[in-house]
Amino acid sequence: MNLTNIGTVKDILGRHGFNFSKGLGQNFLINPDICPKIAEMGNAREGYGVLEIGTGIGVLTKELALRADKVSAVEIDTRLMPVLDETLKEFDNIKIYNEDVMKADLHKIISEDFAGLRAAVCANLPYYITSPVIMLLLESHLPIDSITVMVQKEAAQRLCAKVGSRESGAITVGVNYYGTVKQLFGVSRGSFMPSPNVDSAVIRIDIDREQRLSPEEEKFFFRMVKAGFSQRRKTLANSLCSMLGIAKNDVYTSLSDLGISESVRIEALTMEQLMALTKVLMNYSK
Ligand code: SAM
Repeated sequence: MNLTNIGTVKDILGRHGFNFSKGLGQNFLINPDICPKIAEMGNAREGYGVLEIGTGIGVLTKELALRADKVSAVEIDTRLMPVLDETLKEFDNIKIYNEDVMKADLHKIISEDFAGLRAAVCANLPYYITSPVIMLLLESHLPIDSITVMVQKEAAQRLCAKVGSRESGAITVGVNYYGTVKQLFGVSRGSFMPSPNVDSAVIRIDIDREQRLSPEEEKFFFRMVKAGFSQRRKTLANSLCSMLGIAKNDVYTSLSDLGISESVRIEALTMEQLMALTKVLMNYSK
């Protein structure tokens, strides 16, 4: 069954009485070139189990299952279950979980379904939760080698920005803390049904599982990063003072110990400075 043929897709969806949900970010891929590329560049190969988030009608799921040993996919929309039973019926290496990815036990899925295999994540992410999903995948320390995802072009720019640059955000710091990120290729809005208002891009995060901070430090690091970027126009001292309750003088002392200006904004700090600041500031937050 060709899931990139518009006629075929309309026929399946029509027979199942399916209407697209904008709220769930349902823009399905219909450009035949994209899914094979995501699968090939996203570690879908022998020896791997691939976790997919958001199957839609299974167009990417199928390409992943053709290449990887196993595919487990989490899809929130119950209406898609009978559709997937039909579109993926010829595969015996796919398992679908009808769950919200934000609530699913991803550790359990990976350890049980992919025992003895390496693991990777591939997805055309629902745009309304791009950053929360990426942060969830990273912060839960899943035993995965890579995360290859389609995101909106603007989100890709932020994800791939340099830490310490104006274009960076909390998510930039997150991906660079856990690994390295790069943009693989752009995807035009016409590649989807229905077509969204923006173009997209596929990025890959290669995970570096070396622990750079202790679990306690890591928790504080992300509280600080999220607080700093949520008020990015303020100086770091002001936002840490108001959001983390650290006395302004203690922030000033910490910054000056590290040779950083008191008026610095979080977006100007490098990864090394952010980690060093975490270690110093933690002493004041207890
Ligand atoms: N992979 C398909 C494709 O490329 O055509 C569908 C991608 S579509 C952009 C996003 C998919 O994620 C939709 O099928 C949507 O129902 C699903 N989704 C949305 N929110 C979700 C959530 N919280 N947990 C799991 N799946 C979700």
